[in-house]
Amino acid sequence: MTAQSGSPSFENRSADWLGLEEAQSRIFGQASPLEAHRISIAESVGHALAEQLIATATLPPWDNSAMDGYAVRAEDIERASRGKPAKLTVIGVVRAGQPTAVDIGPRQAVRIMTGAPIPRGADTVIRVEDTDAEADPGVVRILESRDRGRHIRAAGQDMLEGESLLPPGHSITPGTTGLLAAAGCETVLVYRRPTVGILTTGDELRRANRYEDVRAGRGIPDSNGPMLAAMTRAAGGIAVDLGIAGDTPEDLMQRIRAGMEWDVLLTIGGASMGDADLVKRVLDDLAFHQDFWRVRMRPGSPFSFGWLPDGEDRQPVFGLPGNPASAFVTFEVFVRPFLLALAGHRRTLRRCVTCRSGDTFRAPAQLTHFQRVALSDSPHGVVASVTGSQGSGLVSGLARADGLAVIPEGVEVIEPGGEVEVMLLDDAPGGSTYDTASRGGSS
Ligand code: AMP
Ligand code: MG
Repeated sequence: MTAQSGSPSFENRSADWLGLEEAQSRIFGQASPLEAHRISIAESVGHALAEQLIATATLPPWDNSAMDGYAVRAEDIERASRGKPAKLTVIGVVRAGQPTAVDIGPRQAVRIMTGAPIPRGADTVIRVEDTDAEADPGVVRILESRDRGRHIRAAGQDMLEGESLLPPGHSITPGTTGLLAAAGCETVLVYRRPTVGILTTGDELRRANRYEDVRAGRGIPDSNGPMLAAMTRAAGGIAVDLGIAGDTPEDLMQRIRAGMEWDVLLTIGGASMGDADLVKRVLDDLAFHQDFWRVRMRPGSPFSFGWLPDGEDRQPVFGLPGNPASAFVTFEVFVRPFLLALAGHRRTLRRCVTCRSGDTFRAPAQLTHFQRVALSDSPHGVVASVTGSQGSGLVSGLARADGLAVIPEGVEVIEPGGEVEVMLLDDAPGGSTYDTASRGGSS
């Protein structure tokens, strides 16, 4: 089909109306990780491991003390008490990281620091508070026996040489960086992050530099372009702004061509049946293969997915609807997991929690509904309340949303106090924490 910019007719495309899960599995089944490369561990947070991490040392390398105190033999302090202290001879001191060849014998002790190797013969570390801290130099009185047999961290407790520590596909967190450092890694093999060309479409759209048109009632702010770039970055992708295409075949063609060099192409708007919805027609002129169009969900039903030929390869193309809430939700449920899978992450789906409903949720048609919710704590668990009116053109509730309530097909209403599943949106710092005001001021 060729683009016909002069035609006023609504297009009559046949719609697939897939269920949410089928749409997701058709997309996710096509995602395989990009190539791997080696980077410094300092830059690795947010990437996925492309190798198995194997321990090349045993840690801790020696049995060591978990306390500052005195290494002793349990049998020498068994009945020690404040009234009847056990009196031991202190034969030395060991510090963390100091190998030792000290042996202790009957009624002897060694002063020991946290992390220091346990002297041979000792099986107990008495914390310093339970001693007289050598009031008489060279002699320690043990005042308590509660630490008998305790406070020794065994060699190899953390890792054993040759042991597998992490599988490929593990998402690197700051905690992982600690483990990589403990395993002696300076660099780590990770998957490349996907590049994502983002094309906004619509004659009516204005960025901040032309916001006077919005104030004068002659334009609509382009909230989706910047929002989807931010969502792409939060999903570990690299966002490339392809600008705002006007509603002409020529402008769309030029910008889509420019977007074909990136790993993924996102188009926003021009996705439904209005006569200005030219995106599909222009894609068709580039030999687009549409996998499906339309999903049984709200918001976001005019979503489409397909492929553009790209030399030997093909480029995945996500057609997001233009209404901001529709663009947001379809990115969350389709694009984000796909980008994470390209970047090699094994876990790609948001965590879902069951919350108490703080409102009446209505979801009449045979569609999966997504509602933007704010979460707060209560004595009955976490409460999910809608962030104001849920019209798909509205932006303000998106900024206040901690999660998306997912109301499955077939459920028409959830009453206040009922159970509701919520997909957590926890990108922001503190994103999975709740409103402190609702905890009665304590935080
Ligand atoms: P469309 O799919 O192009 O018909 O767009 C549907 C609705 O979304 C229209 O009201 C558009 O003005 C609006 N819209 C499209 N793109 C954007 C955008 N980037 N930012 C904000 N609103 C948009
Ligand atoms: Mg449009």
